[in-house]
Amino acid sequence: MKKRIAIIGSTGSIGTQAIDILTDYPQHFQIKGLATYQNIDLLKEQINKVLADQVVVINEERAKELNKNLLPNNISLGGGKEALLDLVTREDIDMVLMALVGTAGLEPTIAALKAGKIVALANKEVMVAGGQIVNQLTQEFGSSIIPVDSEHSAIFQAIQGCRDTANEVNKLILTASGGPFRGYGRERLRKVTREDALRHPNWEMGNKITIDSATLMNKGLEVIEAKWLFNMDVDKIEVLVHPQSIIHSMVQFIDGSVIAQMGVPDMRLPILYAFTYPYRLRTELKPLDLVEISKLTFEEPDWDNFPCLGFAFEAMRMGGTMPVVLNAANEVAVDLFLRGRLAFKDIPIIIERAMGSHNIIKNPKLSDILDVDRVIRDMYKKDGVL
Ligand code: MN
Repeated sequence: MKKRIAIIGSTGSIGTQAIDILTDYPQHFQIKGLATYQNIDLLKEQINKVLADQVVVINEERAKELNKNLLPNNISLGGGKEALLDLVTREDIDMVLMALVGTAGLEPTIAALKAGKIVALANKEVMVAGGQIVNQLTQEFGSSIIPVDSEHSAIFQAIQGCRDTANEVNKLILTASGGPFRGYGRERLRKVTREDALRHPNWEMGNKITIDSATLMNKGLEVIEAKWLFNMDVDKIEVLVHPQSIIHSMVQFIDGSVIAQMGVPDMRLPILYAFTYPYRLRTELKPLDLVEISKLTFEEPDWDNFPCLGFAFEAMRMGGTMPVVLNAANEVAVDLFLRGRLAFKDIPIIIERAMGSHNIIKNPKLSDILDVDRVIRDMYKKDGVL
């Protein structure tokens, strides 16, 4: 039977790559719903390509603009958050690809899980901010999450043969490319520009995650994501810099054996696996040529010059709402940097300051998480920084 899918964040980097790979297998997948934050031009193109019957534009003003244009009349169009929640809970949807950017993905993910859906999760901020709640809900409602993030997909694949991950896994080793500024010292980092930061050596990604890769915050967020996805103590998660991005992550077991998942750095692979799991499909992607690559190298992360990675570990150890603060302050800082209002070297300063001023709420409810997230964003508005 075909898997019936809703793609949330369809016009972003993950969304477009998902449509690209899933439409190669019309006998397996049917994309029934698409949601974008506001890119209505690309959404219109996608409607014709995937034959969805429901589309949502999350930004209500932009939704009205789309309304004026002619859409095929069998398509239902909605605007705003309610329409989005309606789409992800639809009875005839089996899987939801959550590929929004930032904490915006939290509420729709929760709604989908409560409706018993399988969520293919690309939106790591959801687990960073709400991992504990999300895990409780998947238990309670018999729903599940399959990771799309390449590192977590790698770990998920590596533990498929493991019967008792709680006792048999010694550690998770998340690999990091090191980003465009790997090897840079303090002086060089002071002078990097927006354009430099947006030039990732291996992966084609959206702007926010590309900047996160340059600061190593992306890896920090992934450590927290891994903790919740695999119920792993934070002290059992390690980060290893691997500039070629061929090993996407590894699992070390208690007997000393290490299982690594390798592949060309192409997000269509982990996206497709999330939708075919526990099976695989043949792809036309370029096969991995290890002779051509010839060398895989590894090094320690540079904790001193990329402090965001350490902040993430710190936030995770402190627990409660501290990861929410880490994430919200990072979203603010990256947004400022992308708009030319903040220097690259000042991104960690914003995050450190926000974490320093926060009183942790233990075992936060969803409302606590959303409140803290808003307070951090407002703090910078009041400061006149925004
Ligand atoms: Mn990743």
